[in-house]
Amino acid sequence: MPFNLPATLVPLYALLNPRLLLPSITVVRLLLSISSKEISSSQPDIRSLNFAALRDAGYRGAIFDKDNCLTLPHSDNLIPELEAAWSEALRAFGPSHILVVSNSAGTRDDAAQLQAESVAYHLRAPVLLHTALKPSYSCAAAALAALPGLAPHELVVVGDRIFTDVVIAHRLSHPRTVLSRVAARLGLAPAHRSAFDDTASGDNLVGKLSHAPMAVWTTSLWARESVAMRWAEARLVRLIERCVEGARERRVALEEQFVRFALDNENSKGKAGRGWFSWVKALPKLR
Ligand SMILES: [Mg+2]
Repeated sequence: MPFNLPATLVPLYALLNPRLLLPSITVVRLLLSISSKEISSSQPDIRSLNFAALRDAGYRGAIFDKDNCLTLPHSDNLIPELEAAWSEALRAFGPSHILVVSNSAGTRDDAAQLQAESVAYHLRAPVLLHTALKPSYSCAAAALAALPGLAPHELVVVGDRIFTDVVIAHRLSHPRTVLSRVAARLGLAPAHRSAFDDTASGDNLVGKLSHAPMAVWTTSLWARESVAMRWAEARLVRLIERCVEGARERRVALEEQFVRFALDNENSKGKAGRGWFSWVKALPKLR
């Protein structure tokens, strides 16, 4: 993985705007007892997302991360357990309204874009070719340009990393130029609105579109990668969510609307990546 300067600078931006790190929805492994006999569960990956409900709420397209979200790192193939959910996403939005944005396939390090071509073939969806890595504003602009006719607020952005996938989701709706962003920050121009601003006013709690993309954080870990950084990201999200008034309530309201629980039958017992809750709990014990 090449050095990612835009992701390295994220903590500095987060000091000015901590909400940059807050996902709209977090999918985790949860078990819910709905009766003495039946257990309902959610998986910490795209299987828990109700793509039809997202489409019905007005979302018309989606941007997906690749590694540890749809495929194993360094693999071009969809994780077999995700096949049904991925097909549902393709049906809900249509392949032309789905874009895979990866910091491996389709980047400068992908010689002749061979991996991007292979991933696009196996996932049945286009892969963004880009020179700037997530979560840079250049990458956000390239992603929007690759989805003509779709506005940022009509997009769902799904990924497993806070510093790249969640941050770029918010940046899709930020002003494009440095000057306009500074002007917005200083109150000299209309500020961008995030999903949290919208939910703060209650606009997005009952299915109306937000003014920003829906940032979905999948916490599944199909293969161990950047474990310490993930642990730090998870801790940071929890901390910020505790400090931002109403953040948790707004996230829970969106999850009730768009996260699906399945009865814990044979179909939902497939292999799953390890959820982040277990990592976050386990790591401090290692000290
Ligand atoms: Mg990833």
